[in-house]
Amino acid sequence: MSSHFDVLVIGAGPAGYVAAIRAAQLGLNVACIDEFLGKDGKPALGGTCLNVGCIPSKALLESTKQFHALTHSFKDHGISAGEPTMDVPTMVGRKDKIVKQLTGGIATLFKANKVKSFAGRGKLLSGKRVEIRFHDGATEVVSANHVILAAGSVPIQIPGIPFDGTHIVDNVGALDFTAVPRRFGVIGAGVIGLEMGSVWRRLGSEVTILEALPDFLAACDADISRVAAREYKKQGLDIKLGCKVTAAKVNGDEVQISYTDAVGTEHQLTVDKLLVSVGRRAYTQGLLAEDSGVTLNSRGQIEVDEHCRTSLEGVWAIGDCVRGPMLAHKGSEEGIAVAELIAGKAGHVNLDTVPWVIYTEPEIAWVGKTEKELKDAGIPVRTGSFPFAAIGRAMAMNEAYGQVKVIAHAETDRVLGVHMVGPMVSELIAECVVAMEFQASSEDLARICHAHPTLSEAVHEAALGVDKRAIHRAN
Ligand code: FAD
Ligand code: AMP
Repeated sequence: MSSHFDVLVIGAGPAGYVAAIRAAQLGLNVACIDEFLGKDGKPALGGTCLNVGCIPSKALLESTKQFHALTHSFKDHGISAGEPTMDVPTMVGRKDKIVKQLTGGIATLFKANKVKSFAGRGKLLSGKRVEIRFHDGATEVVSANHVILAAGSVPIQIPGIPFDGTHIVDNVGALDFTAVPRRFGVIGAGVIGLEMGSVWRRLGSEVTILEALPDFLAACDADISRVAAREYKKQGLDIKLGCKVTAAKVNGDEVQISYTDAVGTEHQLTVDKLLVSVGRRAYTQGLLAEDSGVTLNSRGQIEVDEHCRTSLEGVWAIGDCVRGPMLAHKGSEEGIAVAELIAGKAGHVNLDTVPWVIYTEPEIAWVGKTEKELKDAGIPVRTGSFPFAAIGRAMAMNEAYGQVKVIAHAETDRVLGVHMVGPMVSELIAECVVAMEFQASSEDLARICHAHPTLSEAVHEAALGVDKRAIHRAN
């Protein structure tokens, strides 16, 4: 017997599960299909983000940050604690517990909101029908007035360098090492490569990161990436730019990597574990029947308009499987917007104010355009920067490094971008997203009272600095 729903969501990552819950809140009859199986082999909701992405990586980053503080900076506070050790299985076990708690939480939320959950693989057929292939091989066809495709993304493989899950790994493998690799190689100095490189470096791995591009963190404002590169170098992350990996072979318990550097010289590197983190691609394989009516773009993403409508009326697509930044919160916002549009309400996502965060030490966060992007577009700007070195709270935390940079239009003073590197900037960026959403000027930020002593004073001072009137530094 086939079932019919108001809304059927394929994928229960942060895009899909949020869409399902919001649609159910709006009184719609909703089902969500997800195929992910957790480490225990049981269905686990939450997608890449909760299971093998945002959350587990942050759990390991936090554990190793604590360890690193104990071994490196506790002594500055006068604290000594004998010879510290790290028990990797305990650290990974703590991470798994957090993942289980959160994925189980989504199942509870589905129940509370009466979202019907199907554990299996969904395939969009014609006529807004979806075939579900359950994990035991059984199939069922269900239909809906609206289908939301939220299939997420998968890691890109470099041709000839297949993941083996043990020595050459993707994010899944790098989150689950049972011991600290002595030599850890990373291909790709993007967000995932830097975060996972930091985790294992803090526990003592020799980390080498090979990046094809000549510029470091090219998506960041140059003032920010320069500070970050300096700090990473101090930590011992060996980041080699302009290096293209040509081959990697597992040889016994090692991986032998061949790469060419920026001037074309060939090099060899031997590591114990190799993470390939060269980006992710939309996961549309097997998602669409030939006659589904939904089209893909040239990058293999599901083609959508600004409201996440696909080429087929009543079929929507959100999250990593469509254009825009591959970030959990961007997908969740799209999920809410689509659910509200389906329910006849207004819904929209402003891709220009999606914040970015890299959770290394120091953290990096930004919203809006970089100074270079604005200058290249011929937009006149004024900027104000303020260092955490002059912020009392940062000194008290022993993390007085990095800066905040506010970029405003030179004539209208509207804030066009805010870029930060330093302590807890993942939290500080929220204020700037609000400011940009409300079309604030740098003068608005400068006239808002910020608590003392807090890290947020750096945002305040940087905004004052746009008009050359920062108080705690010479302008
Ligand atoms: P996903 O989370 O990928 O979920 C898609 C779900 O759909 C999966 O469960 C998948 O199994 C299921 N699925 C796919 N096809 C089908 C099908 N045909 N039938 C049934 N089920 C299907 N983003 C951040 O914002 N902050 C971070 O700190 C961050 N850290 C990250 C760290 C790592 C190591 C990685 C890998 C990613 C990180 N990301 C981070 C990115 C973030 O995880 C993704 O942007 C986010 O998960 C995308 O959400 P989604 O719902 O679109 O897709
Ligand atoms: P992200 O998209 O943030 O995950 O970053 C992926 C990074 O990998 C980018 O900085 C790319 O330039 C880099 N990259 C892509 N392909 C290669 C390659 N073959 N060798 C080294 N780096 C690469």
